[in-house]
Amino acid sequence: MFRSFCWPRSISFSRLVLAVGLLSLVGCGAPEATGAGQAVDAADASSSGGTTTGTPKAWAIAIHGGAGVIPKDIDPVQKEAYYAALREALTLGQEALDSGESSLDVVEKVVRKLEDAPQFNAGKGAVFTHDGKHALDAAIMDGSTLGVGAVTGVETVKNPISLARLVMTETRHVLLSGEGAEAFADTMELERVDAAYYFTQGRHDAWQRALAREKEEGEQRLMMDSAADDQASLEDARLGVEGSADWQNEKYGTVGVVALDRAGNLAAGTSTGGLTNKRWGRVGDVPIIGAGTYANDAACAVSGTGIGEQFIRHTVASDIAALVAYGDLSLADAAHKVVHEKLKPGDGGIIAVDPQGNLALVFNTAGMFRGAADADGRFDVAIWEDE
Ligand code: ASP
Repeated sequence: MFRSFCWPRSISFSRLVLAVGLLSLVGCGAPEATGAGQAVDAADASSSGGTTTGTPKAWAIAIHGGAGVIPKDIDPVQKEAYYAALREALTLGQEALDSGESSLDVVEKVVRKLEDAPQFNAGKGAVFTHDGKHALDAAIMDGSTLGVGAVTGVETVKNPISLARLVMTETRHVLLSGEGAEAFADTMELERVDAAYYFTQGRHDAWQRALAREKEEGEQRLMMDSAADDQASLEDARLGVEGSADWQNEKYGTVGVVALDRAGNLAAGTSTGGLTNKRWGRVGDVPIIGAGTYANDAACAVSGTGIGEQFIRHTVASDIAALVAYGDLSLADAAHKVVHEKLKPGDGGIIAVDPQGNLALVFNTAGMFRGAADADGRFDVAIWEDE
């Protein structure tokens, strides 16, 4: 627990304090400067000494569809399909939060929408494993109760985020894997699919290219698969390499949602197919609570995307929450510190929201599919840094 006391959900004490604080601070909130690869809610995420001086929002939501090297010259039709998928998902979240739905319901609903969109590496459109399968990971966390549910390596569930939520509500466990997760799914009412459902030609081709490259580079390369792939991608991202034929293959494309609802509660959810050509039951950051997913009403809700191994090493999501809770940093400063000072360029990005509705969408890659909306009329989707 970050704090030793709890306020009743309906009171939203933090907003009361903020409102009182604002009375004496009117006019003092200078907008936060945004740095490279970060899009912070500049109008209201100002920070100094950990004090957020913006106007609290009744609700707020951010979504992502993965971070990485996204060539600016992608086919216009493909580009529009990405924007459309992001807009559709964001609209769903916007309407649900505006009408008073809980952040947890909204996170599940919007992640499901993104899982159903073939553009992203989650649900339909998930990447291929080394063995030509799909093994999906997902996690959801309720910031008001610290309830969490996660699954890893599931192969027949249409919407893994919903299975993760059932782990949270229907079991005393927090993380179920592989066959066990499938057996649990058998006991629940949940839409199941066969492997063909997840198929997309682009992911299939990317897997084939990865296999061919692996063969070419030999057994030694194979043994160093993860580290070498990560390094290659990292170099590309550092160099801002664009137009690479493989830009959407090995990693990224994970989806995530964070939300603040009208009751003042936070939630986060993330879903992914993991990395193309992953093997040996590899588990990424997404289902590891505190790495790729975290939510606590006393701090913030976070969902990440990028090189899962890096997010696990640096406990990215819980670190951001800890910097807000113990470090007294604003959400913007905490997110910047972890993404730009702890992670390395090219590792990935995060979306986050705090109890005042400040949003942070921060990445150290060339781009991140993302969107943000709030009760004050904000609604924007973007891919690259300079949008
Ligand atoms: N973080 C995910 C993983 O490592 C990949 C991604 O974000 O696309 O499984």
